[in-house]
Amino acid sequence: MDKITTPVVCQETADEMVVEFEQQGGSWAAIEAWESHSSGTDGPGDAERTTVTGGIVSSYEYDGCVYCGDTAFFKCGTCDTLSCHDGYSDTAYCQPCSKQVHLSGDIDEIDGSEQSDGITDVDQSTGITKKYSSH
Ligand SMILES: [Zn+2]
Ligand SMILES: [Zn+2]
Repeated sequence: MDKITTPVVCQETADEMVVEFEQQGGSWAAIEAWESHSSGTDGPGDAERTTVTGGIVSSYEYDGCVYCGDTAFFKCGTCDTLSCHDGYSDTAYCQPCSKQVHLSGDIDEIDGSEQSDGITDVDQSTGITKKYSSH
């Protein structure tokens, strides 16, 4: 397992997105984000829920939150929700908790969905990553 996707809430708009993380050394690097449509039927499907350990970083190719552009993350200590963050403030707003939270320490654990074999297929000749539904 070297890739997971996990829901992330925008601290500015409260909208949800999905962020894909790739394992790079001992850390998990954000590489891509897209808008989540969790109310529909196009959810994560049969992807396995998983918890991984390691710090979170943003890769150079990560464009940031799809809603506000923030490229870092924070994890609420109360509800465990992962949200976008500007990366330098020591406070953040947790939308699910509707409160300002103080940040301390680094994220060392993420809950996500494992990207199992067959879902992602990288075309080596172009470098384009294609996603297939897994049924
Ligand atoms: Zn955001
Ligand atoms: Zn919270």
